Amino acid sequence: MADTKNNGLFTDLIRGGVERSHFDETAEALYLTSGYVYETAEEAEAAFDGNLDRYVYTRYGNPTVAALQTRMALLEGAETCLATGTGMAAIFATMACQLSAGDRVVASRALFGACYAILTKILPKWGVEVDFVDGRNLDEWQAALATSCKIVFLETPSNPTLQLVDLQAVSDLAHKAGARVVIDNVFASPIHQKPFDFGADIVCYSATKHIDGQGRVMGGLVLGDASFIDDELLPFYRQTGAGISPFNAWVLLKALETLPLRIEAQAARAAAIADYLSSHDGVLAVSYPGHESHPQYEIAKKQMTGFGAMLAFEVKGGKASAFTVLNALKLIDISNNLGDTKSLACHPASTTHMNLSQDERDLLEITDGHIRLSVGLEESDDLIADLAQALDMLS
Ligand SMILES: *Cc1c(COP(=O)(O)O)cnc(C)c1O
Repeated sequence: MADTKNNGLFTDLIRGGVERSHFDETAEALYLTSGYVYETAEEAEAAFDGNLDRYVYTRYGNPTVAALQTRMALLEGAETCLATGTGMAAIFATMACQLSAGDRVVASRALFGACYAILTKILPKWGVEVDFVDGRNLDEWQAALATSCKIVFLETPSNPTLQLVDLQAVSDLAHKAGARVVIDNVFASPIHQKPFDFGADIVCYSATKHIDGQGRVMGGLVLGDASFIDDELLPFYRQTGAGISPFNAWVLLKALETLPLRIEAQAARAAAIADYLSSHDGVLAVSYPGHESHPQYEIAKKQMTGFGAMLAFEVKGGKASAFTVLNALKLIDISNNLGDTKSLACHPASTTHMNLSQDERDLLEITDGHIRLSVGLEESDDLIADLAQALDMLS
């Protein structure tokens, strides 16, 4: 039996899901296999008619993937977990397995680009109605949720400007409207926000980001109760091939062992950088949930257990200044990726959010001067020195 006992955080992340093979290896085994064999034809028959619970094909399940799922469920405090090939596979499968033509989704507008595309381009084509609200505005949520709906989808803190949604308040409204609350919890990471404590029903991750945290593999995770995961998501997942490679699952399993150490250290650097940037003359505004200047700082303190490693700031002088700063960075890389031990910066308006219209960007308050910064694990002093010399180019 895998170790599925809830211990302390670090113990769960190091021991959870461990099920040694007959070789008694120390580290988690990597079962890089697509299929499985049977002693007898009768055994194969029993596996297929449901009388024998065993692995039959890796698209359905795999022991290394199962270890990742067990460890992650322990971390999140979820009944169960399913791992997918990418974050988008996690989010798409979560939506698609629940929705039928005629259903309605209400979502906050500030979302990761591909999530926004699922909601605006794919689901409407299949007869699903999608309404957006400003996630910060409870009156808008209340108005939208006066009509019944199937799923409430949101991201908090949001990409790229770290706007927050009051999770408990929105979950209460969603439940009254008959909806399940699905949250994309990537920006906070499972270490700094526990959405189930604030009413969320389903939590999704791109494990590609902080969970791997070292820029190596793609992966996604869906966490929730057994009735949703086993009865609704699993049949869809098995037939549509959302599964993760056992190799990627193994990398993520090992990455979980150090996740809290990395997140705490990266968040400490992010806080120091937010302090530094907020006092800089060339910077108009800094958005970091843990900084007092964040307009929703009180909500951040209420629902986050730390403030994550992502921040955004706006430089004076628009796109030209933002590009000057990005091009002058020597240590921090320009990249649209995030959640890495290497600090990464990007200009959302011309990259991750370029497909939006100017009106949509205005609604999201993404300006031409915005830079998104994913804070890594390098020394704070080195990161601040790099930003300082880059911002000097503006004067
Ligand atoms: C990256 C990301 C995704 C998508 O994850 P992939 O692993 O790239 O498919 C979804 N939501 C957020 C907030 C992300 O940052």
